[in-house]
Amino acid sequence: MNKVAIIGGGASGLMAAGTAASSGCEADLFEQNDRVGKKILATGNGRCNITNTGLSFSAYSGRHPGFAAYGLKEFGFEQFERFCRSIGLLLDVKDDGRVYPLSNDARSVAAAFESFALDSGARIHTGHPVTDIKKSGGLFELSSNEKQFKGYQKLLIATGSEAAPQLGGNDSGYRFAVNFGHGVEATYPSLVQLHVDSSFHHKMAGTKINGETTLYLDRRSAAKAGGDILFTSYGVSGFSILDISQRASSALKASGHVSIGLNLLPGFNGQSLAAQIARFAKDMPGRSINTLLTGLITIKVAPHLLKDAGVDPDIKGGQITPKIIRKIAHKLQDWRFEITDTHGFKHAEVSGGGVGTAQINEKTMESTLVSGLYFSGEVIDIVGKRGGYNLHFAWASGRLAGKGLAESQF
Ligand SMILES: Cc1cc2nc3c(=O)[nH]c(=O)nc-3n(C[C@H](O)[C@H](O)[C@H](O)COP(=O)(O)OP(=O)(O)OC[C@H]3O[C@@H](n4cnc5c(N)ncnc54)[C@H](O)[C@@H]3O)c2cc1C
Repeated sequence: MNKVAIIGGGASGLMAAGTAASSGCEADLFEQNDRVGKKILATGNGRCNITNTGLSFSAYSGRHPGFAAYGLKEFGFEQFERFCRSIGLLLDVKDDGRVYPLSNDARSVAAAFESFALDSGARIHTGHPVTDIKKSGGLFELSSNEKQFKGYQKLLIATGSEAAPQLGGNDSGYRFAVNFGHGVEATYPSLVQLHVDSSFHHKMAGTKINGETTLYLDRRSAAKAGGDILFTSYGVSGFSILDISQRASSALKASGHVSIGLNLLPGFNGQSLAAQIARFAKDMPGRSINTLLTGLITIKVAPHLLKDAGVDPDIKGGQITPKIIRKIAHKLQDWRFEITDTHGFKHAEVSGGGVGTAQINEKTMESTLVSGLYFSGEVIDIVGKRGGYNLHFAWASGRLAGKGLAESQF
């Protein structure tokens, strides 16, 4: 029977601890927080978008996204749903493929996985930040709260990423990995709000528009996402922004030129929009263009958009030329903002980068450099799209790692 240590009591560590213990391991899980699963509680706005029915490695990024493929096949949606049922958790599949607990409450997920680990016989040590890990004489030992915990044949690093430090996010897993000779891909906030370079965005703060965002990297269109765009005091947020943020943040990290084009009226094509504005102008020649535009977009945005287009907001419908109309229609559908930064790890859902996958066995999650050392979850250089993909990688890689921990070494 292996005696194993798991560092980190998040989604991945709990899955691994329960899996290893239920396969007969003596499993000790160390969690720095005063409770396990703190990040799970914050997921999906407290509802926990636990997985997605459309799992594919193409939903993931990293230096080698294909690394995720084996885990997604071995422990895909069907296997995961069966597993959840077996630990007393029923799921609710939405039409778009997102999956939530039937209770619609992230607390059900945290409780089910904590119970799975405990019922399987894992020992959970909360309030135990691990500060050092060593391997000597073929066995792992770790330091926590100025005590040494020794005699582990195998050890799993499931410490997550630097995202959301208020919930326990930190870089300790990367430091442990580097000490064991592993490479770490540079990390960056992902699924995160963006800072824009403008003198007026803050005046539109609080305005939400159902639009479309195009990401431009070095002025070339690189990605598009539809959904909410929310103006904030620092820049932009909303689902369509989060959806392009991974590539934006990664490009910023590489010092690329990053900008976005906002389409505030994706329901129109360019011509029909110009025709609509022209009709308004003709029918209401005495009204200002600012007032006319509020038939299409909110008053909080109209004057700023017009000024940015170089159009006097007070100009009357009767004075508007076709050239001005084209300018406005173009701005409404491709309003460019330079991106200067992300809103940082504190506000990010996940981190890009992490422990390099080239030195991890994708079938077992074991290090190819140090036998008995495993990695799972977000600490690895795999980051998913929004929609339950990140939690699923944590579950799937935790499941593989738990089985690996339980395998006899001889
Ligand atoms: C606000 C928010 C909302 C999100 N919503 C979703 C969603 O709806 N769907 C989705 O798929 N993903 C979502 N995510 C992402 C998802 O939560 C993570 O990808 C997932 O939790 C990663 O699991 P993990 O086990 O690898 O890491 P974590 O869940 O971060 O767990 C790591 C654990 O290790 C502990 N730890 C770290 N270092 C040490 C140490 N040295 N010693 C001891 N313990 C340590 C931490 O305290 C933490 O409990 C969201 C993230 C955030 C922040």
